[in-house]
Amino acid sequence: MRIKSVDVIPLSIPFEDGSSGVGLMPRKWTALDVALVRIETDNGLVGWGDGFAYFCMSATVAVMRDMLAPQLVGREITDVAQLNRELQQQFHLQGRYGITTFGISGIDIALWDLVAKAKGVSLAEALGGRKRDSLPTYASLVRYGDPADVTKFTAKAVADGYETIKLHEIALDAIEAGRAAAPLPIKLVTDVNCNWPRASVDEMMAHMKRLGLYWVEEPVFPPDDEKALHALQTKYETSIASGENACTSVEFARTAPMIEFVQPSVTKVGGVTEFLKVCDVAEDVGGRVMPHSPYFGPGYWATVQLMAARPVCEMFEHYYVTPEAYIDPTIPLPKGGAISVPDRPGLGFEPDPEMLRRYAA
Ligand SMILES: [Mg+2]
Repeated sequence: MRIKSVDVIPLSIPFEDGSSGVGLMPRKWTALDVALVRIETDNGLVGWGDGFAYFCMSATVAVMRDMLAPQLVGREITDVAQLNRELQQQFHLQGRYGITTFGISGIDIALWDLVAKAKGVSLAEALGGRKRDSLPTYASLVRYGDPADVTKFTAKAVADGYETIKLHEIALDAIEAGRAAAPLPIKLVTDVNCNWPRASVDEMMAHMKRLGLYWVEEPVFPPDDEKALHALQTKYETSIASGENACTSVEFARTAPMIEFVQPSVTKVGGVTEFLKVCDVAEDVGGRVMPHSPYFGPGYWATVQLMAARPVCEMFEHYYVTPEAYIDPTIPLPKGGAISVPDRPGLGFEPDPEMLRRYAA
């Protein structure tokens, strides 16, 4: 099976989240950008992937279209992991991590989709077997900033049946509002996205311990300061999670022994290939994997299949927003805090051609 073509299809899908839309991202966030990649083979199969593109769409598109695609057309698909390794080495002078790896991630996901489709099995089967049919899922809320909004949306997620809820709040009053709306035994988490200054992190972590948070995500910058994270986790007896912006298992080999939860993001870490290696790293050190997946394209579907194959992954992250539409309207959305794992060839993702036209960016 040879690669006949590699096409990159940028999409932008408006979404609603009920917030003021400011705080988490550099600008007001109103649309989910998707750098979709379509790889067709000489035997007529089509594989789909996407590289992380929020607020970096044209850069991720350029990596896949201008740097990676010319290296791939005409290549035989045999060992995807080896091909991924080759791309990493070839393009390390353009940046070992970050955007380069986002592009490699999209390509890798599409290649794994093709490998599974060629075998006529789901990706989970192709990765060694489907170990579970249902995935526990948590609601990952946006940052509202306003405690009244935190109360409203946390209560809504509780009513939806979620037993774990993640806030992206950084202010104590907002986090306390979330705890009041989601009392124990509901597991509550907050994702700081590295926003607590070092001068206030001790005070905030003491409050997180008092509130009984299940984990605190990326409390300080930089998020790979594993010694600082380990010290906070130990001192405040509160689990730390980090890794959504880390690339390749090389970075996780440093952090996994030091924190409770590692968070590979399949569209950022280096695709299915590197996600699997991160699972191996975590298993080697007795670590726990809490995948990062606040997206709705092929990366969502790939994460579902990876989690079905690798039980070291604990809960699926469902981004608690409402897109105007889904690229594949059959997307397995959570019900009562769980996702049913599809059993179709490959990722299971097949885009609706009308969506590709409507949301072309
Ligand atoms: Mg996060």
